[in-house]
Amino acid sequence: MRIGMGYDVHKLVPDRKLILGGVEIPYELGLLGHSDADCLTHAIMDSLLGAAAKGDIGKHFPDTDEKYKGADSIELLKEVRNIIDKENYIIGNIDATIIAQKPKMAPYIEAMRKCIAEALMIDISRVNIKATTEEGLGFTGEGLGISCQSICLLETVDNYAYMDVTAEKQSCCGNCPLK
Ligand code: ZN
Repeated sequence: MRIGMGYDVHKLVPDRKLILGGVEIPYELGLLGHSDADCLTHAIMDSLLGAAAKGDIGKHFPDTDEKYKGADSIELLKEVRNIIDKENYIIGNIDATIIAQKPKMAPYIEAMRKCIAEALMIDISRVNIKATTEEGLGFTGEGLGISCQSICLLETVDNYAYMDVTAEKQSCCGNCPLK
């Protein structure tokens, strides 16, 4: 079992879309970045890569690479899922927090959970997303930017294989090599 954390910040500016967790939120400002600047998805990706000891999103998707200009972060999340899969990890759960003074996130949280869970091909019950303000304090409180934090747990396929073998042993006919 492995744990990972991710943290990301983007500036709020005019004439940009506000996309969090793959969901476009109507607001007068949007997040600035090389990609679509989906701060929540970036924090989630970093937590997954961190748990797998696979570096961070800057290493896999450098913002100096034209390929990632305006990139849909949900597509990048799918690439992270492939990295995790190759290492034989299974996502136990993800718990993430959006820190923003405005706008209200509550109406969009379920759509974000669904979008993240679908991209990672996991049940929605394994993805939790929360939102909070910083009571008007600091850069998020002043509405200058949005930050996101994520923590996740990865389980190894070995754990599941071990459980399967145990189950088979318990119902063994007596002739199989697992006895
Ligand atoms: Zn980012």
